[in-house]
Order: sequence, then C-alpha cells, then structure tokens
Amino acid sequence: MSAVSIHPAVDHGFPPTAAGFSGGTLTCKCASKPVKVAIKAQTAHNHVCGCTKCWKPKGALFAQIAVVPKEAVSVIENGDKLHVIDSSATIQRHACKECGVHMYGRIENTKHAFYGLDFVHTELSAEKGWAAPGFAAFVSSIIESGADPKNMDAVRARLRELKLEPYDCLSPPLMDALATQTAKLNGVLAA
Ligand SMILES: [Zn+2]
Ligand SMILES: [Zn+2]
Repeated sequence: MSAVSIHPAVDHGFPPTAAGFSGGTLTCKCASKPVKVAIKAQTAHNHVCGCTKCWKPKGALFAQIAVVPKEAVSVIENGDKLHVIDSSATIQRHACKECGVHMYGRIENTKHAFYGLDFVHTELSAEKGWAAPGFAAFVSSIIESGADPKNMDAVRARLRELKLEPYDCLSPPLMDALATQTAKLNGVLAA
C-alpha cells in the first residue's frame, strides 16, 4: 500500500468502465435538501486533476473529473442552492452554496474547444460503471494548494502505479483539441 493518497475514489483501485452504462444521479454533501443532478450519459476523459479550481473531497490531493455532453445534464432537485463560483472563469462551476460541492461546470464560450461539454464529479453518484479515470492532469499544481514540493516524485510514481499517467497540463488528446481549435480560430487550419 502506497503512503501517497491521491483521491478516495482511486486510492484502492477503481471499478472498470461498464459497457452500456448510461449515467446516474449526482448528489451534493448536504444532509438535508441535497442538490441532485441527473446525468443521462456515460462520461469521457475521466481523470484526476491537481488544479486549484476543481472541487476536491476533504483531504484529497486531487479532484476527479470527467466530461459529458451538456444536453445530458439536468438539475432535478434543490437547484435554488446552486451558485456560480466565478462567472469570469472559462469553466463556470455551479456549486452548492451550503456544502460547497461543485455539481457541474459549464463552458459558455461557444468558440471554446470543449464547448458543449460539462465537467462533472461522478464520485457524487451511487451508481457504478462510470468511465474509469485515465490520466492525471495539472499534477504540479497540487503544490499551489499546499502539497510538499519534495514529495512530487512519490506522487508521480503512485500515479503511474495506478496507470494514471501524470501530465502538468491536460492529456495529449485534449491539448491537441485545444490547439486545433486555436489554429482554426486563427485561420492557420481550415475550420
Ligand atoms: Zn450541498
Ligand atoms: Zn482541475
């Protein structure tokens, strides 16, 4: 057992992606009147993220986050408790005002490469079969949240052990998608 704790949903391995899985319900941490968000699709690009903006469970070094088409996301209970954390951010994170959990993050910029995709934390759902995490993003950024810089070799070694390849940005396919969109907007590549 590694001494490095990454995230409660991955520290002991994670269940495999289930074929034909079609979603579930995310519930915030409030004991009464929790916010519930229905996700009617399987997620993609699930990963652990070390950035300072993603919601992390208490004590976790990383967040776990995936994307899903925004049409598949709907607030079904207690949506009046949601507010946008930072309306100037690229990803507008809709969080519960009481418990602080981020229920979904949405990109409103129609020109963004990831427009149309919402960011969700599938650990908030009791259903099993969500897409398993596949990589680790923004690993160096955990230092910005207070992680010990001297421990980074151990953190990256543990991520590799979990087959979550560590990157200090997003994964190559996602970085390629962002760069492709930039090239199209600049007219360097045909739109
Ligand atoms: Zn809540
Ligand atoms: Zn993040």
